[in-house]
Amino acid sequence: MSTDRIAQFVRPEIRELHAYQVGKADNLIKLDNMENPYDWDESIKRGWLQRVQAESLNRYPNPEATELQKRLRLAMNIPAGVDLLLGNGSDELIQIICMALAKPGAALLSVSPAFAMYKMISAFTGLEYRSVDLNEDFSLNLQAVLAEIKQSQPALVFLAYPNNPTGNLFDEAEVCKIIEASPGLVVIDEAYYAFADSSFDKYLSKYDNMIVMRTVSKMGLAGLRLGYMMGAPEWIAEFNKVRMPFNINCLTQASVSYALENVAMFDKQTQQLCESRDKLFAEMQKIRSIHCYPSKTNFILFKTEAGQATRIFEGIKVGGVLIKNLSPNGGALTDCLRVTIGTEEQNAAFLCALQESL
Ligand code: PMP
Repeated sequence: MSTDRIAQFVRPEIRELHAYQVGKADNLIKLDNMENPYDWDESIKRGWLQRVQAESLNRYPNPEATELQKRLRLAMNIPAGVDLLLGNGSDELIQIICMALAKPGAALLSVSPAFAMYKMISAFTGLEYRSVDLNEDFSLNLQAVLAEIKQSQPALVFLAYPNNPTGNLFDEAEVCKIIEASPGLVVIDEAYYAFADSSFDKYLSKYDNMIVMRTVSKMGLAGLRLGYMMGAPEWIAEFNKVRMPFNINCLTQASVSYALENVAMFDKQTQQLCESRDKLFAEMQKIRSIHCYPSKTNFILFKTEAGQATRIFEGIKVGGVLIKNLSPNGGALTDCLRVTIGTEEQNAAFLCALQESL
């Protein structure tokens, strides 16, 4: 096929991009993508099948996902006076926010390293992407962020709390200073909320230029694709105009509602994953040729000796475990690998494969 037409009509900034890559798992133990490794109790699974069986697939879903919104409010302690907007994963929420704020010349500010979709979606929506490097320990360089805010007056600031791919929580008071200095909207992306013991939801009544965003993916429902944002009704009303009608399908609405009725099982799994994370971190810290970064998420970022990351990543794969090689991203991620917390057995298999690859 002639690519002339593509060159003529597709926006150059889209042609420059690479599609989001997900590694092929084949028969490997999959510890690359922050998924919950646990299955459901049999009785809970049976109840779920009954619930989805009752859905009418010939009908469009409830456009506001009313029942699911009620369940989320209860299960997640969402304060009164705050409105909710649901997305097909929090990826879609990032896209909705960016579409609504992407005036010509508007900028989105984040940090580096950050979640890759902030930059991708900035390109999709025509926002100018700016980022400020984190310090060497991945804490915020507050002065540099404040200087950049002054300079570029960003319409949007995105901060993941805890941060992906570094795993740490930023200093709360420093994030508050960023919110206070921002002329536009600040989005606190709490995708890893379940593992963090810390949230900005308590500031929703204080800051009217802040939105808190979360997902059910990491707690164990990644296949259903549901994210939610919380914020002042005035912001949510604007974003709701950009949302596609019926963006949350009926099986997702029914399944997440049901899961939230059984939230105790997920809480138990999350608790187990936090314990396993701390245990794996302690084991990995004993290995002298790698450096591990403290994590408040369900993954651990670690740095290998210079130039060894790809060899070690491939060695771990030969040992039967797929993790994520972040070294090709360059910058502060050079020589870095990231492992998602699995079951105790999977973590042991990873540790063994790691030790054999060093
Ligand atoms: N934000 C952050 C910081 C993430 O790490 C991820 C997933 N990797 C997302 C948002 C997107 O989550 P989802 O679309 O599954 O809700």
